[in-house]
Amino acid sequence: MALFPCVVGNHKYAGPQQSAYCAALNGSFAARSKLRLCPEHVEQLGQWMNSNLKLIAIGEKMVDEAWKGADVCYSCSSSEIPWQLFCNLYRRGEPQLDFYGASCTEHLPAFQTEARLEL
Ligand SMILES: [Zn+2]
Ligand SMILES: [Zn+2]
Repeated sequence: MALFPCVVGNHKYAGPQQSAYCAALNGSFAARSKLRLCPEHVEQLGQWMNSNLKLIAIGEKMVDEAWKGADVCYSCSSSEIPWQLFCNLYRRGEPQLDFYGASCTEHLPAFQTEARLEL
């Protein structure tokens, strides 16, 4: 049994704890979260990040051309993007995944919900 419950619904689970660090930055303002997740919910978070943000690094290796298209909002492609979004996923036995995206104010809440950020 993992020591801490999974942050998604606070359920207990067997198997190793997985974790994620997320952040939303706007100028000098920063909101950060540290999530303890079960293997299933770390995969779900990874899938959301993968389909919305850019995967910029796998372990120590930068992903080629990952920054292409990262200068507009991840959701609506607006170029009014006060927010920078980050998510690092740590899955047991796998290389770390780093995601990055930019966001307009309107589309921040979707990321905020996934990342469980308090603003
Ligand atoms: Zn879970
Ligand atoms: Zn947007």
